[in-house]
Amino acid sequence: MYYKTGEEFKEVSGYDLERGWYPRVTKILEIKSKPALYKFYGELSSFDEGEIIKEKSASEGTMVHEACQAILLGQSPSIDPLIQPAVDAFVSFIDHTPIHTSADFIERRIINHGERYTGTIDALALINGNYGVLDIKTSQSIYRDYNLQTAAYMGALEKQFPKLQTRWILRIDQAKECSKCGASLRQKGGRDKVRAGFGKGDPKCEHEWSEMKGSIELKEFPYWQNDYKAFLAAKKLWEWENDYWLRQIGYL
Ligand SMILES: [Zn+2]
Repeated sequence: MYYKTGEEFKEVSGYDLERGWYPRVTKILEIKSKPALYKFYGELSSFDEGEIIKEKSASEGTMVHEACQAILLGQSPSIDPLIQPAVDAFVSFIDHTPIHTSADFIERRIINHGERYTGTIDALALINGNYGVLDIKTSQSIYRDYNLQTAAYMGALEKQFPKLQTRWILRIDQAKECSKCGASLRQKGGRDKVRAGFGKGDPKCEHEWSEMKGSIELKEFPYWQNDYKAFLAAKKLWEWENDYWLRQIGYL
């Protein structure tokens, strides 16, 4: 990534806060390689096609986040038909799960002054009597990398919220399923993606797809200390890579 000015670097990589500029958690974590991305780009005809799919998919993800956060607050937002199945699954999920949060704890800025980084959490929530960080994902699986991000949030919040116990990933997804072989079809970023093989679905099947159905997966990751150490190590590497700009702007 190239920057023209220190101002551009600051804008892209973090936020100006009362005590100065801090980098964002998600920006820092871009330092970690994601081999699945190579495969994603490799399947496409050009790099630009990948960028378009990623951007569209991110905006669908944002729509799901905004809708679910509004619903958690008891509002009735209007839902884009594109994400309706996922949001329906979320509504049914919270009807059956004791989950509480409040406006003060949704889409909230977090700051770690000791380690000098910032970020934005999706929600602090009380689920089944446990208090923790809830992060919403719209990916097709829960990836281990997410633990670095949520550990960074825990590290920032633990002093301010001593009762904070745990963290969850709430994965909200939607897919069609083949009634013949069990393969799944996702439509993300304007692209159809079929998952068949590896024990689920038959790549040679002439699929018959169901309606788009939403699904929810809630997974708890209570032990965050080791992930937090890994996050701080990643931050160190990110600082090394961006040494020039971080010195220019006076962060290092
Ligand atoms: Zn099939």
